[in-house]
Amino acid sequence: MLLMRKNGMRATALSACLMAILTAPWALPGEDRVIAKKGSVVSAIVVAENAPPPLKHAAGELAFYLGKISDSPAPAIVNGSSRELYNIYLLTAGEAVKKGVVNAERSSELREDGFILKAGKEGLFIIGRNPRGVLFGAYEILKRYGGIRWLVPGADGEYFTHQSEIRVPDGETLCNPAFPYRTVFLGRCNNNSFLKDTWDWQVRNNLAVHTHSVRFSKEAYDYLEKLDAVCRQGGHIFTPLVVSVYDKDFTLKSLYEKHPEAFPLINGKRVFLDGQKYQPCTTNPMVLERMRRNLVQYVEKRVKPGDYVIIGNNDGTSWCQCENCQKLDPPEEKAKGSYATRYWTLVNDLARTVWEKQPDVKLGGWAYQNFHGVPKGVEPDQRLLVMLTYNNHCFRHALEDVNCPVNREFLKLFREWTAKKNYLTSWEQMDYAAGDSYMFIEKNYIEKLKSYRKLGVKGPLLIAPPPDGVYSRERRVTRTPVTWYAMWNTLYLASRFLWDMERDCDAEFEEANSLYYGRAGGAMKEYHRLLEKAMLETPCCHGWGHNSPIGRCLEKPGVQEKALGLLAKAEKDAAEDPRALKHISFDRKFFTEVWLAERKNYLEGFREIKCYSRKEPIAVDGIDKEEDWKNAERISNFKVFRQGKVSSDASAGTQTFLRIVYEPEFLYFFLEVLEPEMKKIKAEYKEHDSRIWEDNSIEIFINHPDLANKYYHLVFNHKGVLYDSFCNALNRAGDRTFNSEAEIKTRLLADRWCVEMKIPTSGLGMKCFDGTTWKINVARSRILTDGTREHSSLASGGSFHNVDNFLPLVFSGRRIMKNGKAADDSPWKNGSFDNVVSYPASKIKNWKIKDGKGPLFWSLNGDSGAFSMGLHPESKNYYLTLSGGAIYQFYNGGERAFRIRFRASGKGSLAVRLFRYRLSEDGKRTGLPSITLATIQTDSTAWKEFSYSYEKSVSREYCALVFQHVSGEINIDDVIITPTPTL
Ligand SMILES: [Zn+2]
Ligand SMILES: [Zn+2]
Repeated sequence: MLLMRKNGMRATALSACLMAILTAPWALPGEDRVIAKKGSVVSAIVVAENAPPPLKHAAGELAFYLGKISDSPAPAIVNGSSRELYNIYLLTAGEAVKKGVVNAERSSELREDGFILKAGKEGLFIIGRNPRGVLFGAYEILKRYGGIRWLVPGADGEYFTHQSEIRVPDGETLCNPAFPYRTVFLGRCNNNSFLKDTWDWQVRNNLAVHTHSVRFSKEAYDYLEKLDAVCRQGGHIFTPLVVSVYDKDFTLKSLYEKHPEAFPLINGKRVFLDGQKYQPCTTNPMVLERMRRNLVQYVEKRVKPGDYVIIGNNDGTSWCQCENCQKLDPPEEKAKGSYATRYWTLVNDLARTVWEKQPDVKLGGWAYQNFHGVPKGVEPDQRLLVMLTYNNHCFRHALEDVNCPVNREFLKLFREWTAKKNYLTSWEQMDYAAGDSYMFIEKNYIEKLKSYRKLGVKGPLLIAPPPDGVYSRERRVTRTPVTWYAMWNTLYLASRFLWDMERDCDAEFEEANSLYYGRAGGAMKEYHRLLEKAMLETPCCHGWGHNSPIGRCLEKPGVQEKALGLLAKAEKDAAEDPRALKHISFDRKFFTEVWLAERKNYLEGFREIKCYSRKEPIAVDGIDKEEDWKNAERISNFKVFRQGKVSSDASAGTQTFLRIVYEPEFLYFFLEVLEPEMKKIKAEYKEHDSRIWEDNSIEIFINHPDLANKYYHLVFNHKGVLYDSFCNALNRAGDRTFNSEAEIKTRLLADRWCVEMKIPTSGLGMKCFDGTTWKINVARSRILTDGTREHSSLASGGSFHNVDNFLPLVFSGRRIMKNGKAADDSPWKNGSFDNVVSYPASKIKNWKIKDGKGPLFWSLNGDSGAFSMGLHPESKNYYLTLSGGAIYQFYNGGERAFRIRFRASGKGSLAVRLFRYRLSEDGKRTGLPSITLATIQTDSTAWKEFSYSYEKSVSREYCALVFQHVSGEINIDDVIITPTPTL
């Protein structure tokens, strides 16, 4: 402690075992023992000649670093005590008891990997429960009394300052790890490579090295032995157990030819075990016999003491459908599609066969894929390690956060497993969330570790690609080789807490951050907290498979600019420190390539605005304090108006942010109008319906399905003075007798003005029903007293009045989360055809599709047909031109009656039809006769509106709307389905 302060480091991390030293009665003032001194050798490191490699390695590391930190020759490593020098003894607990250094009772307090540090005039004893514990003890001396830290792998991550003396106070302390299972899975690289830096980093931070390869070079293998590494074997091994390298009787292929019954029955056929797709028939007696025999051989030949073997399935979710296999599935698992009982029945069988011959071998299985729950029909043998392999964990939320729909489900599974007595570990697919998505999750992760302690989980397998990994050519051009630097903080803090949960998260963060970024520590801390907050305020979950909406994290006005400003400041502050600069450059890289790039994609992909229905009352007061505003999407990227140039989508220099909430009777808007020159904004009009657009103002344009090309036009200035009219495409001045009765409240802040607005739908002629789509545009005239003028809008080219250019506004109901992402549960999608994507060849078949581009969410009926996507003039909004075949989309609305509207033009004929089905309880569709609602004709380029009503006649009826080509070329657009009330 004292020495850390001398060392110039903030002595903030007071660990629990250090507290014990300071307060325990046996630590009452003794002497400090000097173990290193600048310019001389004052200690000797004593390690027995026949000591295991990890102890010799510990001696080497201790000697090397004592010399390095004190800037002196390294202490000698000797076999027996030195008379002149202070002796540092490295011992395993067994040896220490034999030598009388500690008694058996004290030694029995040590758990796996634990160590005792005992200093006195006889010497400093570093005693490990196992050889790995000695290594950890030696590093503890260096960290605690030498002040050294290893923040990231390699020389780059090593931090210390020279000390003229390193002292250890007299006393004895015992340290056990908070979690017995602590390691990092070093993924995405060649797993046979020599990862010296990352392995060292793990051991220096009290993690065990677990490898999953047996094909190392001699050099790597020897080094792993020095680190007391554990080999985690097995994995996806079902097929290699059916036919292994030891088998001479059959190859997989000849076994299939001779005994297809060993292979899985899939849709009535025995299929070959091709790759990882299927599981073998696990109730077939021959299969069982072969798997037992091969596993026993494998264990005998390959597994060393301390290693463990995971008996994992093939990496696919298809299981045998034969009668005997199915008999194993309890009804509740069958209902859920779970194969947990089948899996654990097999693993129990195989493991028990091995244990009959070798009772000490560690074996385990996964709770994974479609067998991740606790099996209902069998007890997993209590001796089995169970790795809870839940790749989809959400890392944005803590495990016990009730607001996380993802982790809520996982927590249930954790609790079920905790009720069993198995040794539980957890697979942490955090590399995607923390690394590639550059998410600051360390605090949540430490919360999660607290939950693991409560639940009795023995520890995690953290996942990260190592910086010194050997990567494939494809990987080398990605961010993978440097992903560690995006998540370094999470990995480092996790290692600290896995050993000692009593540490102080903020203090640990502070120390690591200020070392890693040097003088830029202040700016980088602020940057970190800013992005962490932005992430936490964005709804949705982050993790593998969640399609994390990173693009939304920069929605809050000003955050992006502030983050860039802090990075620039950090670079300036660290100008003299190449190492800190390098670290900041990784942050800049990830911020640019992930957050900014995703933000751009998100904004460019914005062809549809989603809004969600109101949950709580909203007070119109100009303050967005209500939950509904927090939940709403923030829409931005206003484009500069360029007369006649819809192709130009240049962003406006000063941005505007919009949010929308609705209920059937009201539509709510909240605008944040950024304005750097608040004192100069022009607002001269005070009268309702006066020429407000000549002021600094906002305009809202609203069009709904009953209006065809007519729309409502509302204009207001920052004083809340309103103009409202009803326009059509030919008369933009519109009818001013229209009165929206909108309630409006504005609020002026230092850098923006805010508007909260509530518009009754009674005056608009249509209520906001869930699932329907309207069209809107929001425009801004930035007019300042100094003559500045900038016009911008949401629509392409920044245009104002063109209805074809308005954006679809989808009333999406409540925001529903599905597997952690906000599910798109709107019953009808992309009726505007504006979301256009490239169709895969498999979808196109014999269709003639111009440029291979078609509307998202629509399906092609039959193998052939023809269509193209066209753009409205002066617009970037699409319509569809059908010249052959039929396209359809299912309508998922639950109501009995609905109305279909669309518009059409061109010269041709088209049948409007419904494909009909009856849905069974379990979601199966049975066909019902199709219905033709109408056959329409068009003969002009002018768009014409069509509307049809339909009422379902069968219970659980489910329909798809079909447009079937009859003749000519016919354009279709704005297909909207609205539920209609039934009696
Ligand atoms: Zn079977
Ligand atoms: Zn979550």
